[in-house]
Amino acid sequence: MRSRARTAAGANAPAFRGERAGSSSASLSGADRTGDRPILIRGAGVITMDPAIGELGRADILVRSGMIADIGERINATPDVEVIESTNMIALPGFVDGHRHMWEGVIRGTLPTEDVAGYFHRVNEGFAPAFSPEDAYIGTLISAYGALDAGVTTVFDWSHIQNSAEHTAACISALRESGVRAVFAFGPGTQGRTRWPDDVLRLKREEFASDHQLVTLALAGISPEHVPDAIAKAHFALAREAGVILTIHAGLAGMGTPGAIERYGKEGQLGPSVNLVHCNTISDTEWHIIAETGTSVSITPAVEMQMGHGVPPIQQAMDAGVKLSLGVDVETSVPGDMFTQMRAVYGLQRMNAFSRRLQGQEAPRMLGVKDVLEYATVAGAIATGLGDRIGMLSPGRQADIVLLRADTVNTAPISDMLSAVVLNMDARNVDTVMVAGRIVKRDGQMRGIDRDRLVSRLYAARDRVFKASNTPLASTEHRMA
Ligand SMILES: [Zn+2]
Repeated sequence: MRSRARTAAGANAPAFRGERAGSSSASLSGADRTGDRPILIRGAGVITMDPAIGELGRADILVRSGMIADIGERINATPDVEVIESTNMIALPGFVDGHRHMWEGVIRGTLPTEDVAGYFHRVNEGFAPAFSPEDAYIGTLISAYGALDAGVTTVFDWSHIQNSAEHTAACISALRESGVRAVFAFGPGTQGRTRWPDDVLRLKREEFASDHQLVTLALAGISPEHVPDAIAKAHFALAREAGVILTIHAGLAGMGTPGAIERYGKEGQLGPSVNLVHCNTISDTEWHIIAETGTSVSITPAVEMQMGHGVPPIQQAMDAGVKLSLGVDVETSVPGDMFTQMRAVYGLQRMNAFSRRLQGQEAPRMLGVKDVLEYATVAGAIATGLGDRIGMLSPGRQADIVLLRADTVNTAPISDMLSAVVLNMDARNVDTVMVAGRIVKRDGQMRGIDRDRLVSRLYAARDRVFKASNTPLASTEHRMA
């Protein structure tokens, strides 16, 4: 295999129109469940993110039994194989969103101006108590579809809408139905109705006994910065007992007791099965402890900049040698794609580095496009506990693959595949998406979604939640009927 990148699409590359495009079913079931047929992606430019393979200007990818069986310049198609002609495509590992509250799909775009405290007030105290299980279900489902549509094949879902066992079941079934790969992080609920966190043990036993499912389990806990040790340590112990990742928000500006992450690191509580989110204000010592212990960090740069969490800690992480996972966080305030997150990180780190140079200081290394692509794929895979299964296109890994159109008016001609993906493309380039070898989007269309029914359920949920939480609709609200 070559490892030298070259232009992905020739000028005469035929436009790909999938034969089975536009299929739809009457159900809300998102994934095409029939696709156990092997698939050959033929002639794509390939960004593998696997350091041993690199980028391939033109290559084939064979998918068999949901996994990548082979990658090479020319793989013969046996008669049983479905061929996807991809000469005008760039293949990439599916993006991994390292932190999102998916149930908030129902309240998308409702908080353009709130800061963190305002967000807690409006969402956790306002909207959340009003959510029925159906609302949590439809919010999670639409967030998953939005993710898949944008090439995000895995989401770390920090699900703090666990107001009852019915809410929990609704969120899990939405994730499973959508076809997305997800880590369901079982979180708090409201109004003292929650069975969190202890119910994580039952969930592990009854729903997630196997780790080899598309949806796996984590515990969403609370940082020792924000609650007494008796509570925080119980969360750490419970996650260990359940054998799942513990994910906690940490290092938010103006909130909590500083130094708690350092103390927990020294006590041996941190490690690869702990995921810290945001980390805007934690100390350099804490960053070094995070690096030494292999603790993962997910930042959500667009939301952090908009809501005042503090400066996204990209430079601190780079200085400590920590590779960050990126997340959307809340669709109340930002879009659900990873192009936005990658460009936020890229622009911010470089702006700060140039700013140091302009002040006569030594500038740190500037982030490159491959760095941020690594954040959005490989680092996300590690943060979700799936570092050996996804995040790269390599034989033996799960076939979570995105095909990005390279012949579009917003990107052609492509002279550098990595730059094109990070700097020029957006969700409109996402042509085909597969998760574990199952095609959920093809020829630019999501498969198997009854959009009219989905959208009318969403509007009904939105209206119900606004009414039950006594939230007035904005004058700019859109009415379906
Ligand atoms: Zn969050």
